[in-house]
Amino acid sequence: MIRSQDNAPYDVVIIGGGPGGSTTGALLKKYAPELRVLILEKERFPREHVGESQLPPISAVLQEMGCWDKVEAANFPIKIGATYTWGDTTDPWDFEFLPIGDIKPDEARPAKYEGWRVQTAFQVERSIYDKILLDHAAELGCEVREETRVAKVHAEGDRVTGLELETGEVVAARHYIDATGAVATLRRAMGVKIDAPTLLRNVAFWDYWENAEWAEEIGVGATRVHIRSLGYGWLWFIPLGPTRTSIGLVCPADHYKQTGKRPEEIYLEAIQSERFVSALTASATRDGPVRSTTDWSFVVDRTYGENWFLVGESAGFADPILAAGLTLTQTGARELAYTILELERGELDRDWLLERYDELQLRRVRQHMRFADYWYSANGYFDDIRENCSAIAKESGLKLDAADAFRWLAQGGLGDDAPGQVGVGGMDVAGVKQMMQRFSGSDAKWTINGKNTFKLNLVSAKETTIGKLVDGRIHTAPCYVRGKSRLPLLGVQGLVVEALRASSDAEGILEHLRAELSKTLAPEHVPVSVHHAIQTLEVMANDYWVICGVKKNKPVLNVTTPEEGSQIHTHDANSPSARRIPATEA
Ligand SMILES: Cc1cc2nc3c(=O)[nH]c(=O)nc-3n(C[C@H](O)[C@H](O)[C@H](O)COP(=O)(O)OP(=O)(O)OC[C@H]3O[C@@H](n4cnc5c(N)ncnc54)[C@H](O)[C@@H]3O)c2cc1C
Repeated sequence: MIRSQDNAPYDVVIIGGGPGGSTTGALLKKYAPELRVLILEKERFPREHVGESQLPPISAVLQEMGCWDKVEAANFPIKIGATYTWGDTTDPWDFEFLPIGDIKPDEARPAKYEGWRVQTAFQVERSIYDKILLDHAAELGCEVREETRVAKVHAEGDRVTGLELETGEVVAARHYIDATGAVATLRRAMGVKIDAPTLLRNVAFWDYWENAEWAEEIGVGATRVHIRSLGYGWLWFIPLGPTRTSIGLVCPADHYKQTGKRPEEIYLEAIQSERFVSALTASATRDGPVRSTTDWSFVVDRTYGENWFLVGESAGFADPILAAGLTLTQTGARELAYTILELERGELDRDWLLERYDELQLRRVRQHMRFADYWYSANGYFDDIRENCSAIAKESGLKLDAADAFRWLAQGGLGDDAPGQVGVGGMDVAGVKQMMQRFSGSDAKWTINGKNTFKLNLVSAKETTIGKLVDGRIHTAPCYVRGKSRLPLLGVQGLVVEALRASSDAEGILEHLRAELSKTLAPEHVPVSVHHAIQTLEVMANDYWVICGVKKNKPVLNVTTPEEGSQIHTHDANSPSARRIPATEA
C-alpha cells in the first residue's frame, strides 16, 4: 500500500480535467485509493472541445480505467478505420483497424470490451466523452473542482510550491501535473522550452453539422472517418452520433493568409468544392460559427521538473492527420500515473523513472510528427517538407539524401508505439509499406528481401532497462540503446533477438520463430505472428540492429507487399454499407 503523507493537503494536484487529467487521476485512484488527488478544471463540464477521432489503444486505457462500458453506453459511432483520398491518386482507400470479416455486424450495443471490439476505437463528441471521464475520476475518489481556474503558479527554482486560484486560495501538493492542453499553465510558468522540428504550420477550421449523412454504416453504428485531400489541404468528416458530424478543414497558415478570405468563406468553399462531403451535407444544417485554431506541431524539451509533470497536449502536439492526439494523451497519462505510483512506492530508481517517462513521451510525439511530415510530403504538394526529410533523418543519426530519407521515414524509423512492438499511428510495418506503395505508385522495398543471413549488430550499443506496465506496477526488462534507437528485449522484438541468437540464417530463424510461437499459440495463428516477427526484423534491419547478408545457394527472403492488403486496401464504394454517391460526385 502507498502511504499518503500528511505534510501537504494533497498528494497530487492535476490542473485540467480533460482526458489527460481525468485519465491520470482515475488510474492513480484505481491503484492507490489512499492517495489524495485533486483535479482543478476551469470550465463546467460538459464543454465543447475539438479532437474526436480515436485510435484503438485508447480503448485498452478506458478498459483499465474501468470506464470503457460507460463510453460504449453513450452510443458513439464505432470507428473501424479511416477512408482517405491522399497521395497521387484520387481513388479512396481504407485503413482498417481489423479485417472487415472480423466485424460482427449483428452484435447488439452496448457491447462488451471483448472479441472484435478490442480492435476498434470510438468517434466521440468531446463534451460528452470528457464529462464521462471526469465524472469517472470523481467516482474513483478524485476530488474534482470545476469552474476553478489556476491563475498563478508559485515556484522556487524548479520546484512548484503552490497553485493560486482565481479566488486567491493557494493549493499545495507533493506532485503537480499540468494537464491544461494548449493553455499549458504550468509549462509556461516554469519556462519549459518548446521545439517544432517540422515545417508544418497548419490552421484548422471546423464546425458541427446536424443530419449530415454517414458515408457508410456497418452493422450497428460502425463506420469509418473520411479524410479527403483538397490539394492545398484536407477535410475531415467524423460522425459523432446518429445526427451530429464534425467536419473540419486543415490547410497551411500561409495558404489561408494568401487567400485573404474569412474563416467562414474558406471553410464553406472547401466543403462545396469537395463533391463527396458536399453530397453528404446536402440536407444538413450547421451549428456555426466556424471555429478555428492554429495546429502547429511542437514538442517540449522536458516533461518533468523537481515535483511536477506535463501530460497530454501541454507536452506536445502532432498534426491531426494521424488522429493521434488523444491516443498520445491517454497512453501518456497512463504512463504518468504508473510513474507517480512507483515514485510513491520508492522501490525503483527515481531518476530512471523520471527519465523513462520523459524519453517515452518526447519520442512518441517526435515520431508522430515525423510520420505526419511523411504523410504530407506524400501528398505531393509539399516539396519543401520532402526536402526536410533529410534533416529529420539526421536527427536520428542517419546521413541520407532527401529521397532515401523520405523512404526511411515510411519504411524504417518506426520506433515502438508500445515496448516490444513496432508500428506507428495504429499501423503495422506491412500497413505502412502498403500505404507507401499507394503514395509512390511503385513497389515498396523490403531491406531484408534477397538476403538470407541476419546478424544481431550490437556495436556501440549499451545495455539498459525498459519498463513494462502491468496492474499499476512498472516491471523492468532489458533493452539495448544506441543513439536514439532502442531495442527492447521483450515482446516481438525480444522474440526476434532470441531467434537471431539461435541462428543467423533465414531458415534457422524462421524455424526458431515457428517453434517458439507454437508453444503459446493455436496453429492457425502462428503464420500471422511469424509475419509480424518478420516485419520486426525489417525494422531492426533499417535501424541497423541487424546486418543482412547473402550466403550462396541458400533460399533468400522474399516478402511481398500486396496492393490490396487487409489493413490498407481500395475503398469498396459498392459495399452494402456505403452510401451511394453518384459517380460525378465521388
Ligand atoms: C484541429 C485539431 C484537431 C484534432 N483532431 C484530433 C483527432 O481527430 N483525434 C485526436 O485524438 N486528437 C485530435 N486533436 C488533439 C486533441 O484535441 C488533444 O490531443 C486532446 O484534447 C488533449 O487532451 P488534454 O487533456 O491534454 O487537453 P484538453 O483536452 O485541452 O484539456 C485541458 C483542460 O484543461 C483545462 N484548463 C486549461 N487551463 C486551465 C487552468 N489554468 N486551470 C484549470 N483548468 C484549465 C481546460 O478547460 C481543459 O478542459 C486535435 C486537435 C486539434 C487542434
